[in-house]
Amino acid sequence: MTDFTMKTDADGVATITWDTVGKSMNVMSRESMALLSDLIDDALADDAVKGIIITSGKDTFAGGMDLNVLASIREESGDNPAQGLFDFTMAGHHMLRKVERAGMDPKTNKGGKPIAAALPGTALGIGLEVPLACHRIFAADNPKAKIGLPEIMVGIFPGAGGTTRLVRKLGAMAASPLLLEGKLNNPQKAKAAGVIDEVVPAGELLAKAKEWVLSEPKIVKPWDEKGYKMPGGAPYHPAGFMTFVGASAMVNGKTQGVYPAAKALLSAVYEGALVPFDQALKIEARWFTNVLMNPSSSAMIRSLFINKEALEKGANRPEAPDQKVKKVGVIGAGMMGAGIALVSALAGIQVVLIDSTQEAADKGKSYTTAHLDKGIARKKVTEEKKEAVLGLINATTDYAALEGCDLIVEAVFEDVGVKAEVTKNVQAVTSPDCIFATNTSTLPITELAKASADPEKFIGIHFFSPVDKMLLVEIIKGKETGPVAVAKALDYVRQIKKTPIVVNDERFFYANRCIIPYINEGIRMVKEGVEPALIENAAKLVGMPLGPLQLVDETSVDLGVKIAKATKAAMGDAYSDGEVDEVLFWMFDQERLGRKSNAGFYAYDEKGKRQGLWDGLTAQYPVADDQPDLTTVQHRLLFAQVLEAVRALEEGVLEDIREGDVGAILGWGFAPWSGGPFSWLDIIGAPYAAERCDQLTAAFGQRFKTPDLLREMADKGQSFYRRFEQDAKAA
Ligand code: NAD
Repeated sequence: MTDFTMKTDADGVATITWDTVGKSMNVMSRESMALLSDLIDDALADDAVKGIIITSGKDTFAGGMDLNVLASIREESGDNPAQGLFDFTMAGHHMLRKVERAGMDPKTNKGGKPIAAALPGTALGIGLEVPLACHRIFAADNPKAKIGLPEIMVGIFPGAGGTTRLVRKLGAMAASPLLLEGKLNNPQKAKAAGVIDEVVPAGELLAKAKEWVLSEPKIVKPWDEKGYKMPGGAPYHPAGFMTFVGASAMVNGKTQGVYPAAKALLSAVYEGALVPFDQALKIEARWFTNVLMNPSSSAMIRSLFINKEALEKGANRPEAPDQKVKKVGVIGAGMMGAGIALVSALAGIQVVLIDSTQEAADKGKSYTTAHLDKGIARKKVTEEKKEAVLGLINATTDYAALEGCDLIVEAVFEDVGVKAEVTKNVQAVTSPDCIFATNTSTLPITELAKASADPEKFIGIHFFSPVDKMLLVEIIKGKETGPVAVAKALDYVRQIKKTPIVVNDERFFYANRCIIPYINEGIRMVKEGVEPALIENAAKLVGMPLGPLQLVDETSVDLGVKIAKATKAAMGDAYSDGEVDEVLFWMFDQERLGRKSNAGFYAYDEKGKRQGLWDGLTAQYPVADDQPDLTTVQHRLLFAQVLEAVRALEEGVLEDIREGDVGAILGWGFAPWSGGPFSWLDIIGAPYAAERCDQLTAAFGQRFKTPDLLREMADKGQSFYRRFEQDAKAA
């Protein structure tokens, strides 16, 4: 069995079928690329073949390139990885150019064999770049199929000719959202956007493609004809010039300049537009190599693609039989419980949603109704689907309805006593095999497990708010949590299509533990007289989605006050955030609680729209004459987070740096360009990181003290991913 096979029928149409062995979706490997190339050679050389169809043996066309290939090429290329990557990329261009030219005479454009791509479903990345090199793209009318070039989402850009071809096919303006935002379309929309050529009923896909192949169509691409003009104008044309000025501003506005792939993509588009097609491909390959050589792109690929997928597939799942959830009980139908019920029912799981009053339980269920109604308005959900999903949720006050549940997720008030009572009430009606999970943010799992009849079956499943949007779920093992409970939590998270990390039970677990020092560092700087706009902009310019002050507004000042009080009570004399509390408590006293009160570190208009920073803040905490430089502010904000991540690793809260990196990006948006805290430390290098910590400690205090692990790594010249390679199997 091979990934590509070819069959020629009696009418002389050779059908090349892509069917990656052992995978549910086709992915391009080095071997399969060589195989496709050979088959194209054979078909072009065979006089019996009049034309070619490239299709898939699966119900989708292809998911893209196997990104592990890029990492392995870099590794294999010894001292000159850039050359290795460039040569590999150019080999891909030659192959696809061979498809595109299909044996035509280079001078007259005569001859050649028509090649159609027939896509039964989803076609992503190189799965669309191969079709773009063909002469006509047919797609089955499958509204669920996704067609596009999402490379930018993992820190690269389409490097198998997709960038150059799409810009030449659509013009830079129309191609921009597809390339720069990785926008995916269903077949009808992809046709309307001009990406593909025909949408046909699924049952007629191959017949339509064959009909076209045999119709002696014109196959020369516009850019291979004399007098070709780029749609919308080349960069030196007045219209084209405007596009590039706008695109460049947009890219910098959106990425704050921290994503090398976006800049490189734009350069490849701009420079490529100035030269003939084959030259443009070479430019694309050079910029692609440039991006692949940037540590940011390898870190992003590692965290957001390879390791994210490994974790989703259960990289850290203990040995245990299948623990798929059939019936989940959600206790507490408030903000979190309502969201947990929604994502569970959407995954087809039967849900019992319990609250203390029927009204509260119904209100929780209505969150799902509202979500589905929104989907209907956007034509993404049908009435039948709505009925089916709502039919899965039983909103009630009756604990007896929990009978038969194999998982409970408790999301009642954050109170040990309330949670203990709920645990007991639940366990009175569920079977001894049922796993009990708590969604607590701040209470120790081991402590809460004391209320359980069987602490081995007690675990933390910590969702982030809003549940339906946030991709990460933190699974927390208490001291006595057993492997079946961990497997249950992981299998459940997989069912609801989120990404899990598994951590041990310490204050604030992992994500909140790292995000709180980020917020505190921002507030501390306000107290010191650092210009608030500098704090916020420094954070955004280093790739944080929200500045620390905006983040407090979003999560609310009163929550911050509550956490600060509880932490202080627990830590006693060791508590060192008094200066932060001064500002936070003052804000609380001013009744500026954040977005929810339409007043916080920022000012808001009557409609709740955020305006600028609130000027009362600097009236209370005047801006100092001497302002720190941008890098100092950024380092304070980043080190506050990453040092906490390192400490979590040292203390064994984190057991796997992959989880630390993936969890940071998905959980609180830690500068995605960096690949996560550990990847960032690897990029700057342990010796520099340790030196910087020493300087920050001297200037700002003990919270920046170099952790022993980092010091040791600095002395030994180690990196996290090398040192922990054994644990980080897939990295
Ligand atoms: P919430 O106040 O919105 O909801 C709690 C719900 O539990 C209420 O509807 C209440 O009526 C119900 N409830 C209380 N006691 C009950 C009982 N004995 N039996 C049945 N129902 C009962 O709170 P929330 O924000 O949804 O938080 C719930 C839990 O999730 C807390 O443990 C919290 O720490 C945790 N959490 C919250 C967030 C967040 O951002 N809000 C994020 C992660 C985790």
